Amino acid sequence: VNTAGILVCSDSREVAGELLGEARRLAEDLGCEVMLCPLAEPAPFEGDEAVRAADIMYTGQVDFRDPTACVGLLVAAIEAARPRLVLVASTKLGMEVAPRAAERIAAPYAAWATGIRIDPGSDAITAQCLRYGGMAMADVGFTQGTVLLTAGTGVFEPASSAEARAPRTEPLTVEVEASGITVTGERAKPASGASLERARAVVDVGQGVRDSDDLTMVRDVAGVFQAEIGCSRPVSCDRNWLPDWIGLSGAKVKPDLCLTLGISGAIQHVVGIRESRVVAAVNMDKEAAVFTQADIGVVADLYEFIPTLLERLQERGARLAWA
Ligand SMILES: Cc1cc2nc3c(=O)[nH]c(=O)nc-3n(C[C@H](O)[C@H](O)[C@H](O)COP(=O)(O)OP(=O)(O)OC[C@H]3O[C@@H](n4cnc5c(N)ncnc54)[C@H](O)[C@@H]3O)c2cc1C
Repeated sequence: VNTAGILVCSDSREVAGELLGEARRLAEDLGCEVMLCPLAEPAPFEGDEAVRAADIMYTGQVDFRDPTACVGLLVAAIEAARPRLVLVASTKLGMEVAPRAAERIAAPYAAWATGIRIDPGSDAITAQCLRYGGMAMADVGFTQGTVLLTAGTGVFEPASSAEARAPRTEPLTVEVEASGITVTGERAKPASGASLERARAVVDVGQGVRDSDDLTMVRDVAGVFQAEIGCSRPVSCDRNWLPDWIGLSGAKVKPDLCLTLGISGAIQHVVGIRESRVVAAVNMDKEAAVFTQADIGVVADLYEFIPTLLERLQERGARLAWA
């Protein structure tokens, strides 16, 4: 089968725009088309500036809440586009859908791409991918056929508006496999990452906080700073303490102040806080990576630091620039 073109698949418009930017740059060298398949209702994508870097937009009528249906849509888009490369957003949905679609069409797949090269002569693809939670990089090579890669937010630059075009829409007929999922209802999450992403101050809880009862003192600090509380992924996903984590696969915050408490500073976390105006980090390990990213670094045991901070703030009072 002759394969050409680059297909971008995403449920997030932001990541779609970034992946389309990279697809456009790769397509320039190859002289091929760029296609988009939203894994969400297409209407909001149609009006999006960054999304107009695509030549074709594939749409399908499926229940986007059901990953099995989204796998069906992605497979239908791949069959219609016959692309050389499929770039899928590393969102929660994308990370589930991409490997399942690759398995269904027996295509090679690699996760967490941060750089892509396509040799215009041989058509060989080399993807630079994160390994071991970002501790290492691997170059993964592919010689032929359709290749699926996932890539996260903030990795690639969106296309410039000069590259905007009017993508033509092509509706797809989607064959959805029997799904084990029945959607019985919907309700909003109790606290949403959206408020975290808009917050002027954020207290960021890491695994250095030992016990869920200690969140009381964290809430006291957040109260003084009128801050929203976020955390690292293990604090949310492994310990189940808080609903919203910050980082590569979580919320991206840009407050005036981000106070990290017992956060080590793994790159996957730091990408979520680096837009903050001031990052103040408390960690008892002076070698912690977070200090290379912090504007204010405090080498201290947070169990000594927090009570002292609260005491001092009570004595002197706090005037908050953002309140
Ligand atoms: C593909 C992938 C995606 C990921 N995405 C994300 C993501 O979006 N967000 C995210 O957060 N993580 C993500 N991770 C996980 C990430 O790599 C780290 O494992 C995680 O961020 C570490 O969380 P932490 O800093 O809370 O914990 P740790 O790394 O365990 O750090 C705890 C820190 O607390 C300090 N400490 C301990 N006790 C005290 C004390 N009493 N006082 C002061 N300091 C103390 C320690 O010195 C240490 O530095 C991802 C990983 C992978 C593989």
